[in-house]
Amino acid sequence: MELLVAVVVGLVVVGLVLGVVLSRRRPAPGRTPPTPGRGGVATGDRQTAATTAPPRTPGPGLAGRIRSAFGSAVQDPWSELEGLLIGADVGPSTSARIVGDVRARYGQGEDPSALVGEEIRSILGASSSLELPTEGLGVVLVVGVNGSGKTTTIGKLAARLSSQGKRVSIANSDTFRAAASEQLGVWAERAGAHLVRQERGADPGAVAFDAVQAARARGSDVLIVDTAGRLHTKQPLMEELKKVRRVIEKAVGRSPDETLLVLDATTGQNGIAQALAFTEAVEVTGVALTKLDGTAKGGVVLAVRDRLGVPVKVVGTGESVGDLEPFDSEAFAARLLGG
Ligand code: GDP
Repeated sequence: MELLVAVVVGLVVVGLVLGVVLSRRRPAPGRTPPTPGRGGVATGDRQTAATTAPPRTPGPGLAGRIRSAFGSAVQDPWSELEGLLIGADVGPSTSARIVGDVRARYGQGEDPSALVGEEIRSILGASSSLELPTEGLGVVLVVGVNGSGKTTTIGKLAARLSSQGKRVSIANSDTFRAAASEQLGVWAERAGAHLVRQERGADPGAVAFDAVQAARARGSDVLIVDTAGRLHTKQPLMEELKKVRRVIEKAVGRSPDETLLVLDATTGQNGIAQALAFTEAVEVTGVALTKLDGTAKGGVVLAVRDRLGVPVKVVGTGESVGDLEPFDSEAFAARLLGG
C-alpha cells in the first residue's frame, strides 16, 4: 500500500514538472517565436522589417499628454505641464513663460492644451522666409559653429535658388578649414554655383570683398558667404565675423540682406547659448535649423524664437540636396502639439 502511494505521488510530481517545462517551451498565444535574421532593423534587412513589423502606434502628441496631466489626479498639473514642455526641448525659460501665461488665463474646465497651442502660435508668429532683393545682388551671410551644418545648408540653399533660375555665387570666407573648402566646392558644383575662394589662411574679409566684386562681374543674383565657425567662446572668431560683415556692408553699400545662423537642433539648449553669442555679434536675421529629421524634438524652435528674437526661416531635414524646407509656423505648431 505504501509503495502504491509513493508511486502515485511520484507520477504526479513528474507530471507537474513536465507540464511546467512544456508550457515554457510553447510560444504564448499570439506570439511568434523569433526566427534568425527576421523582423528587425538591427539585422539590416530593411525590407523585411518594413513589411513584417506591426505598425507602430504613435504615442499621444503633446496636446494629448497635457490633457491627461490635467484630467487625472495629478497633484500639480502646472509643474507636470512644465516638465512636458521641457521634455519636448522647449527649454526651461520658454517653458516657464508658457506655463505662467497659460496659468494666468486658465479657467476651470477649459482645455489647457488649446491654451498652450495659442501660446505656441503666438511665440512663433507668422512664417517668414528669406528676403532677397528682386533686383541686383542679394547677399546672404551664413554663420554658425563648425559641425552645425553650415556647408550642407549653403549647398542646399544654392541648389534651391539655382532651381528657381537664380545665378548663385558662393564665397568661402572660412579660409582655415581645407576640408570644408573642398566640401563647399563639391556642393557648389552640384548646385551649378560659382565658388570664390582664396588660398588657405587668406584674410576672410578680403575673400568676402573679392567675392562681392566677382559676383557682380558675373551678374549673379545671390552671393552666399560662408564663414568660420571655430568655438564661439574665442573672441577672435566673433571679431572676424564682425569684420566680414563690415566688409560686405562697405562693398555692397548696405547690410547683408540676410544673416543666417545655422543651428543644429540636436544640440538643444546648448545651441541656444551659442546662438545668443552669434546674434549679439552679427545681427542675425534668421535661423536655419538643421537636423530636425533626427532625434531632435521640435520644441527648440520655440526657444530659438523666444530667446533669440529671430524667426526660424528654413529647416534642414536630411543630408540630401532637397532636404531644406521653408519654415511653416502653423504646420509646425500642429505637428508639435499632435492630437
Ligand atoms: P559645418 O561644419 O557647419 O559646415 O557642417 P556640415 O555641413 O559639414 O555638416 C556636418 C554634418 O551634419 C554632416 O555630416 C552633414 O551631412 C550633417 N547635416 C547637415 N545638415 C543636416 C540635416 O539637416 N540633417 C541631417 N540628418 N544631417 C545634416
